[in-house]
Amino acid sequence: MTETARTVVFDAPGGPEVMHIVDRPVGEPGPGELRIRHRAIGLNFIDTYQRSGLYPMDLPHPLGMEAAGVIEAVGEGVTHLKPGDRVAYACQPPGAYAEARVMKADQVCPLPGSISFEQGAAMMLKGMTVEYLFHRTTPLKRGDTVLFHAAAGGVGLIACQWARSEGITLIGTAGTDEKCRLALDHGASHCINYRTEDFVARVRELTGGAGVDAVMDSVGKDTFEGSLDCLKPLGMMISFGNASGPVPPFDIGILGRKGSLKLTRPVLFTHLADHKTCQDMARHLFTKVLDGDVTIRIDQRFPLDQVVEAHRALEARTTTGSTILEP
Ligand code: NDP
Repeated sequence: MTETARTVVFDAPGGPEVMHIVDRPVGEPGPGELRIRHRAIGLNFIDTYQRSGLYPMDLPHPLGMEAAGVIEAVGEGVTHLKPGDRVAYACQPPGAYAEARVMKADQVCPLPGSISFEQGAAMMLKGMTVEYLFHRTTPLKRGDTVLFHAAAGGVGLIACQWARSEGITLIGTAGTDEKCRLALDHGASHCINYRTEDFVARVRELTGGAGVDAVMDSVGKDTFEGSLDCLKPLGMMISFGNASGPVPPFDIGILGRKGSLKLTRPVLFTHLADHKTCQDMARHLFTKVLDGDVTIRIDQRFPLDQVVEAHRALEARTTTGSTILEP
């Protein structure tokens, strides 16, 4: 009899209620694949883009791009892992909201013994995103200043600590004063409540009128234009998400008029596509955590069968730090 695993799937794009749990056959790993038993699963905002149809997918489809667990079997050609290994990953295609799965082995990374499964599942996608934002997107050096939106979220709290450890001044934004306090506690030098304050005016004030070297903007529609106004001439706009909706088409001449600005729209999975880069990024992240530069804060836990409530909480902006689904 083929073994099955409880797996979250959705049949049509829509609100959180389109997700439901099915028993899916797991099967044996083929060449280059492995079978993993999940111990903890990470929730990410990208999961909501896929579920809502903003990032279209062939349906029905499972969801989830981040988890940690134990290898049960490996297919031919997999040499960096073996059955019994503790691992964590961020990967495409989605399918992490499950008790177990068969998946490509390339993006699965050995998890150091002193990092728990929960921590692993809470840090891979978010932490490797911060790794590439700070080290692979634009040259940033000690003393530079960065504006980072949604600084109290999953990616945000890791970014605050990462910036502090690199000597980079991070000005955060967040939707409540309480979230701002959290960002400050995690290393943000300043934090602006962008629901009650004009963040552009405040950034200008905080930088003595100069503006910031780079903006890391995952909020999208609501902040994009203001973010450009926070940059120094020749500054770098890194647009990496759409929590408030996608950035509408715009006239690229704006970049020239606002001071020869640079703009990039990076995606984690471009970086992870190369096996060695993926493993290097994971090791860099683990080092930051093991050295105590970055701690991974888990503020919400939901059993897998409450995934609908978990998505509702994330989209309602009521979460802070990372959120875990328990298989
Ligand atoms: P978060 O925990 O940061 O949650 C998203 C946050 O966005 C909310 O908590 C909220 O914080 C803020 N927000 C602002 N406007 C809205 C809105 N209209 N609706 C909902 N939330 C809003 O999520 P993650 O840590 O999982 O991800 C952060 C961002 O980074 C996401 O946009 C995600 O897509 C992006 N990302 C991009 C990657 C890439 O490679 N391109 C990889 C990983 C993540 P507040 O209340 O403080 O405003």
